Amino acid sequence: MKEKFFKMFFTFLIICIVIFQFAFLSKATTDMSNNLICWGLKRESNHKQPTLDSASLKVLNEFNGIAIGNPDKKYIYLTFDMGYEAGYTEKILDILKENKVQAIFFITAHYLNTQEDLVKRMIEEGHIVGNHTVNHKSLTSLSDDEIKDEIMKLHTALYDKFNYEMTYFRPPKGEFSERVLNTVTNLGYTTVLWSSAYDDWDENKQGREDYGKRKILDNLHNRMCSAASCYQ
Ligand SMILES: [Zn+2]
Repeated sequence: MKEKFFKMFFTFLIICIVIFQFAFLSKATTDMSNNLICWGLKRESNHKQPTLDSASLKVLNEFNGIAIGNPDKKYIYLTFDMGYEAGYTEKILDILKENKVQAIFFITAHYLNTQEDLVKRMIEEGHIVGNHTVNHKSLTSLSDDEIKDEIMKLHTALYDKFNYEMTYFRPPKGEFSERVLNTVTNLGYTTVLWSSAYDDWDENKQGREDYGKRKILDNLHNRMCSAASCYQ
């Protein structure tokens, strides 16, 4: 009788603990703000680091995201967003190889599905391949489960093809929220934004080599995280 009582008591206790944990964890997720943050920055002159929007930076820092580095170190991080291929990537990979430079390429599922050989080459040549989601949607409008799908379906697809595990994430359109970064960080990802970019993504404004060169060179700064759209 006594034994039965203890069994019932412990079962009850375990149920209580599970309910408590579930309530606590749910609260932690729903407490996260889903206010839309659009990543932006203000360029500075004389090659000084740009001024990043302090409210956006606060949220990014909360989840150990990356956008810029130590102003005293002379490094530039080259990052490319790969929505689709328009014929430039092979040449970019050749130049990186010639100069022994490694970059990060943030790919979408469309890119992986249509440019498997180029993705293979990125991995083989020592570049980092990052996650730019399956469908390139603004993640703030999706549920937590939908965000997980956007990240993990691509994560698994790349792992299955090349045994490569992605750990860096760039939010589509530079749009995110505290809730989005919480979900992404819980999946083991580090978010990477940028400290330099220009409108090279606009399909109607291509072929502006001098303009692009000027935008990049005029804005060079220490520990710059340069974002380029490879899919013009
Ligand atoms: Zn993108």
